[in-house]
Amino acid sequence: MTNGVLEKMLRDELHGDLAQLIRIMAEGDDESVLSVARQDVPRLVRVLRALTEQHKPDANGRCTECRRGWLRWLPGACRMLLVVRLAWTVDGLEEPVVVPKVRGCSAVRRGRSRW
Ligand SMILES: [Zn+2]
Repeated sequence: MTNGVLEKMLRDELHGDLAQLIRIMAEGDDESVLSVARQDVPRLVRVLRALTEQHKPDANGRCTECRRGWLRWLPGACRMLLVVRLAWTVDGLEEPVVVPKVRGCSAVRRGRSRW
């Protein structure tokens, strides 16, 4: 199995599981909703903790995963944290949150400024 096939399978399974959770929470009876809450909310917490473990800040407070190489000198918060925070706090989002990649401004690219 190539990496692309495995990734697609993993992604499809994840999206399917999440869609089922949303469906149960929206349309399920109280017993089903309680079951999902007890079983799957702790799983979701473990997922978020696992993601934040990979995005720890360095000594300068910058994400070691999002800011590698010369990118570590560019300003900007951890993209994963921004996506999670937006998805968590903004109600009514039907589509996944997308945070555009940070590109260095022209001053940074020319070496006039580190910020
Ligand atoms: Zn990050």
